[in-house]
Amino acid sequence: MAETANFIEQIIEEELSEGKVSSIKTRFPPEPNGYLHIGHAKSICLNFGIKEKYRGKCNLFFDDTNPSKEKTEFVDAIREDIRWLGFTWDEETYASDYFEQIYEFALKLIADGKAFVCDMSAAEISASRGSLTEGGKESPWRNRSVEENLRLFREMRAGKYADGEKCLRAKIDMASPNINLRDPVIYRILRQPHHRTGDKWCIYPMYDYAHPICDYLQGVTHSLCTLEFEDHRPLYDWVGINLGFSPKPRQIEFARLNVTNLVMSKRYLKKLVEDGSVDGWDDPRMPTLSGLRRRGVPPEVLKDFCARVGVSKANSEVQISYFEACIREYMNLNAERAMAVLKPLKVTLTDYEGEEELDFEINPNDQEKRTRKISFSKTLYIDADDFALDPPPKYHRLKKDGYVRLKNAYIIRCDEVIFGENGEVKELLCSHIASSKSGSDTSGVKVKGVIQWVDAATAEDVEIRRYEHLLCDEQYPGQDFSERMNAHSVHVYRGKAEPYAAHCGEKPLQLMRVGYFKELKTAEGSVLSEIFSLKDNFNK
Ligand code: ATP
Ligand code: MG
Repeated sequence: MAETANFIEQIIEEELSEGKVSSIKTRFPPEPNGYLHIGHAKSICLNFGIKEKYRGKCNLFFDDTNPSKEKTEFVDAIREDIRWLGFTWDEETYASDYFEQIYEFALKLIADGKAFVCDMSAAEISASRGSLTEGGKESPWRNRSVEENLRLFREMRAGKYADGEKCLRAKIDMASPNINLRDPVIYRILRQPHHRTGDKWCIYPMYDYAHPICDYLQGVTHSLCTLEFEDHRPLYDWVGINLGFSPKPRQIEFARLNVTNLVMSKRYLKKLVEDGSVDGWDDPRMPTLSGLRRRGVPPEVLKDFCARVGVSKANSEVQISYFEACIREYMNLNAERAMAVLKPLKVTLTDYEGEEELDFEINPNDQEKRTRKISFSKTLYIDADDFALDPPPKYHRLKKDGYVRLKNAYIIRCDEVIFGENGEVKELLCSHIASSKSGSDTSGVKVKGVIQWVDAATAEDVEIRRYEHLLCDEQYPGQDFSERMNAHSVHVYRGKAEPYAAHCGEKPLQLMRVGYFKELKTAEGSVLSEIFSLKDNFNK
């Protein structure tokens, strides 16, 4: 958590000190219509962070008032993601738990003359709503008697009317400058089985009406939501005031987290999954929490990122490079080093016989300077990109008649290049400087380049995957996500890795000079999958 209180915490602290509230309760309110993404992590950290800071409570509240899009699969995934972030909720609640009470409250509004059954179609209602500059037109059904409204609403529940034939509207003010207050629809008729209540209901409450009721019934004190709900707050308050809620929950809005290059709309993420652009919600390129988990981003990094971004009242966009910097900072400290080559090029040391075990530094940041053993022999692989036939000036890697140091091993010299049938570089014949062994180098030879390598005798064939962002970049404001899709977001290499790297499992490793990787189980077998590259090479 950030040390200083954010603006919401300041409000809470003020209310606590003035005795307006005595204990704090928040809720995280996902709609189970998709998987959670990095933006949700911000809301989770905020809501659960407040619970922890003020020793309050935080519920996991599923906003399931929209049965056509909701599924149990999503409920389970959401639970797992929140647990993974390390938070525990007090109660698990559902809007559908409260359907009966929400219905009773509607009867009360009708009885008080504050709601009416309207026979206009959805299109007619929206056409009569007016605009920002023009007031709306009152419904011809607005002045039905309380008795008639009660009867019609009960009949709506009993299934007497077709979907969309009638609805229940709050009777507020068609001339209000706030369009949300122009007699909003609060119940609609919808014959759609619900993932929890089945076909018990054919009328469903609208979000703006149900949400304040659910908050109140759960004892939520602070209902935190994103800025686009600011204009809905008067309606949130109208519901609470007209139903006599005491204490009335307080809605506070904060800015959404937007990150460049990341798709952050469930609707669009769903489209990517459904049209096969990605391998499911947990594809490592997805900005979903399950995707980031599979990618290898530790939950503490995500929480740290949310804390650093902070909570504000103004929308803004965070650079993806900032998120990546948080990951690299963590990985640099925590990831062990290992070696692999993406494009293997065979190197034969013509003057080396036998084999030996060399000391390899596990992590330069390790206080104890621990090492592990790696094997070395006559036949090695380096990365083809670390050799140049026509080197540019100041080329410090390997070239014909040039020298380079093999990381944690010897300095070698390229004596001869062997070409394949098509003129490609097939193998390098090299010699080594025996006195140049890392850790006991007495050769006096200075070389500028240090490259990674693997021992052919022990190296394993591995598929290595690297990624680019799913969205090209932020240079196309206003363009639809589909026009910004990066068609080349996965790069696959048939590489060679030392066994330690090939079987690293979930433990992140720094493949030296390449990036941070972990083992990923896929349908095609186990691969080394990039968490993030060492440097920001995307926007080059
Ligand atoms: P989406 O537009 O991706 O579908 P949503 O807001 O409809 O998101 P919900 O399941 O309703 O998704 O969101 C649950 C909670 O998470 C809400 O309180 C919402 O405000 C918050 N939330 C969603 N996206 C973000 C974001 N990018 N930044 C911060 N909070 C977010
Ligand atoms: Mg929503």
